[in-house]
Amino acid sequence: MSTAAAQPADAPVFKKCVRCDYSLRGLPANHACPECGLRYDERCEMYEAVNPRGMTLIVALILGYGLSGIDDLPLLADFATLSAGKRVEVLAGLFCILLIPICISYAVRFFRSRKYVAVTSDGLMLCLAGVCEDLIPWSDIADAAIETGPVAKAHAVTLWLEHGVRLRAIGGASNVFPTHAHAERFVDHVRERVAEARGEVPADPDR
Ligand SMILES: [Zn+2]
Repeated sequence: MSTAAAQPADAPVFKKCVRCDYSLRGLPANHACPECGLRYDERCEMYEAVNPRGMTLIVALILGYGLSGIDDLPLLADFATLSAGKRVEVLAGLFCILLIPICISYAVRFFRSRKYVAVTSDGLMLCLAGVCEDLIPWSDIADAAIETGPVAKAHAVTLWLEHGVRLRAIGGASNVFPTHAHAERFVDHVRERVAEARGEVPADPDR
């Protein structure tokens, strides 16, 4: 891989700061962003969505149905003479054609926005569905767990914050955890950082 050759071994895990986008090239692996002060280290991790499931299909279906409505456009000229059923069909087709620009603009925004979850030294950055939360400090997080049960999203995580706030389905729709193992690794890492922030880390002989 070309990235392995270009990246020195002690390069930061993040190429850019996950909070302010400032380039971290040339900086040590364990340091702080010169722009916003966010700290990062060698154990930091980034979970980024490459291709969100479902969205491509939904956009393709709306586009396909909308384009098929173009066939009915000439019928608008004889609208008064059409049967009630045919009128409904022509109007539905027209509605789908109107949806095409909205659909394209939504799809462009959705696919261009980066969707990621980043574990930093200071806390968690959640940038999902185009919305970036401010950094959630480790001291504000109570626990994390993989979602289970009949309504659980595939490879999604629930995060419990202090003060009883619960963030559900993290990574579900955005698909930042491509496999169950990724979600498990993320949960383990969050619990580790939370324990560290509380000063209750058991001594790990391997570290
Ligand atoms: Zn920064």
